Amino acid sequence: MRLRRPGLPAEGRSLVAQHLAHWPLLDEDEQQRLLQITDELLSRKRWEAARGFALDDTVRVVIAAQAALLVLGLSTDHYRLVSGIVVHPSTLQTSGVRAGPSPGTVTADRMSVLGLAQDGRGPVVVAWDQALAGAHRTEPGHNVVLHEFAHKLDMLDGAIDGTPLLPRDMRAEWITVCTDVYDDLVSGRPRPPMRWYGATNPGEFFAVATEVFFEQPRELAALEPELYGVLTRFYRQDPAAREP
Ligand SMILES: [Zn+2]
Repeated sequence: MRLRRPGLPAEGRSLVAQHLAHWPLLDEDEQQRLLQITDELLSRKRWEAARGFALDDTVRVVIAAQAALLVLGLSTDHYRLVSGIVVHPSTLQTSGVRAGPSPGTVTADRMSVLGLAQDGRGPVVVAWDQALAGAHRTEPGHNVVLHEFAHKLDMLDGAIDGTPLLPRDMRAEWITVCTDVYDDLVSGRPRPPMRWYGATNPGEFFAVATEVFFEQPRELAALEPELYGVLTRFYRQDPAAREP
């Protein structure tokens, strides 16, 4: 027998409405679907607090609802590599050995991180203060939950390379469009609203592009229509059309 973990709590809907700035932009069907995916993530994934922190319904629901927004046009099956979610109270310091900045390297430097997505079937780790700020859209274009869960989507094909699992007929266009913007960023040519952090490597490019797609969709659609277009087709969502 497998114990079912608690899903969406009774006050789940009002917690989402209170904290998720995207909520009033969604139509009724999308809101229902968001709550359903949130419930699945709460009941099917392992939720853990880092030492010295405790998870309450607000923490779990606000993080799960943002992860649900990302796959609103896809399915929770896209999160099959997410074994669990580990929540720290605030920005965390890491010092363990981990993958380095270039493929095949490792580093043990201390660094501050807002969140991270562990390889393979590892968990997503996020800082609660950052996740809450992201839910309320306090810093334009930034959302740590969307960023880390986007890395998990990227990993589905076995490599964090900025190319998630795509329909075969989309792959060539995706690579052409993303490489054009990425190469400019790498050579120091600004491509707003993309942030420079997207030039770190193709994996970070996809994660940052995802944040911008959901959080500054009108700017992205206006300034980078081709990038906006491939992201719309992949995520099966049109966030710019939802914005007031
Ligand atoms: Zn990242």
